[in-house]
Amino acid sequence: MEKMCAEGIFFGCSLTITRSNVTTITDTNFVKDLVDAGTSVFLLLEYVSFEGGTDDWVLTDEQRSHLRQTTEAFRTQFPALFIAIPGDEEQYGGCLAAGRGFVHISAGGDVEPCPASPFSDASVQTASLREALQSNLLQTIRQQHALLNETEGGCALWTEREWVRSLLARKKIITIPVRTVGSKY
Ligand code: SF4
Repeated sequence: MEKMCAEGIFFGCSLTITRSNVTTITDTNFVKDLVDAGTSVFLLLEYVSFEGGTDDWVLTDEQRSHLRQTTEAFRTQFPALFIAIPGDEEQYGGCLAAGRGFVHISAGGDVEPCPASPFSDASVQTASLREALQSNLLQTIRQQHALLNETEGGCALWTEREWVRSLLARKKIITIPVRTVGSKY
């Protein structure tokens, strides 16, 4: 961060928020230190339980409510942009995945609807990003956007994960294996 500041580079951070780290991430001093170090954007991602055995990493309703209130306060306290996913999505018309608002490319090149939805039927290793955005999976999710209602502040695609998996199965395309717990990705 020091080097980026020295070069005048605009940068931010992406924080995955779990039941056990939400207290740290919503601590004013933690955020202040990052802002003082030059962080201009905070992407606040609520953890979605991809793996069996991690359901208790997901925020409780009480923690989610606290996160929303704290994020609002940070917006008035600090000269930085705070984007909460999926908390802020209601104001953007719901789920932004699959190229409707953004798309995610994994470290291995797999084009996924969202960091919170690690499924893929296209890779930038074998196609251009423009071509990958037209994949069956991503197109269908965009076309069915109206069905992806936000679910009490949670992730719509996670709630509909069996449907997402069925899109891959229908095309006989192998799902990209979900990340393992503890993976650095
Ligand atoms: S997949 Fe979930 S977290 Fe990602 S944009 Fe859609 S609702 Fe939000």
